[in-house]
Amino acid sequence: MCVPGCQEALHANLSRRRFFTGAAAASFAATAIVEAEAQTKTAKKPAAATKAPVGQSYFKGVVDLTHTMSPEFPTFFGVPGIELQKQYDFKKDGFNLNWWKLLEHAGTHLDAPIHFSEAGVTADAIVAGELVVPLAVIDVRKQAEKNPDYLMGIEDVLTWEKRFKKLPASCCVAMLSGWGGHVGDAAKFTGKDASGTFHFPGVAPELAEWLLKERSVLGLAVDTLSLDHGPSKDFKTHHIWLPAGRWGLENVANLEKLSPSEAILVVGLPKIKGSTGGPVRLIALV
Ligand SMILES: [Zn+2]
Repeated sequence: MCVPGCQEALHANLSRRRFFTGAAAASFAATAIVEAEAQTKTAKKPAAATKAPVGQSYFKGVVDLTHTMSPEFPTFFGVPGIELQKQYDFKKDGFNLNWWKLLEHAGTHLDAPIHFSEAGVTADAIVAGELVVPLAVIDVRKQAEKNPDYLMGIEDVLTWEKRFKKLPASCCVAMLSGWGGHVGDAAKFTGKDASGTFHFPGVAPELAEWLLKERSVLGLAVDTLSLDHGPSKDFKTHHIWLPAGRWGLENVANLEKLSPSEAILVVGLPKIKGSTGGPVRLIALV
């Protein structure tokens, strides 16, 4: 079952799409094919992938909010978040297959309630309807540029609401700090100083509390390593947010490519029994 708010948003989006027929639809299809072909050139996909994907008949576009995961991706613990080991090789065995060893909380990933609580919900127990939600993107790039330890606060959300609308029910609130553009530079992304303290923006604990009390929000997302800002030692935002049965997303990519108030977020979360989170493929439907 889709959560309150999500169904309405999806329905509105789908209804809007159904108006696009004839020339407009053909133009969308053509755009989708051009985009798919551009991707094909870089990703060496088979020729069949150049056809417009089915989803793009219903939505204007699909934005990938996921960073590519690799052993080089900066992690909170400073160790590679993934190891790939070739188990079978096409030339030798007739097929390719790797083993993965990965940290649950590395790369673009989800924090489940159990991550910061004794008996919270595990990632596999989060129902699918709570993983398809309206997305509100709060742009704090200017503030973060001046202060790398910036904490997104209640005022930032109120400013967004004044400009757009009240936060939709059961949405995900995402912080766009601009840090997503720094993942290729671990020193800049972590902001680690000589004493080992991180410096990157995060979500103020006061905002997490306020969202729980005053709004209906299912998820918090950040384009940095952690929901809490870099210098945090007590992870207060994690401690407030996750035990309340909410989820978090960290290291989110491409938020700047979205309309701040119109995207639907689809969280592709692996269903691993007992997991405290895990890598996700985040897709925004726009
Ligand atoms: Zn995490």
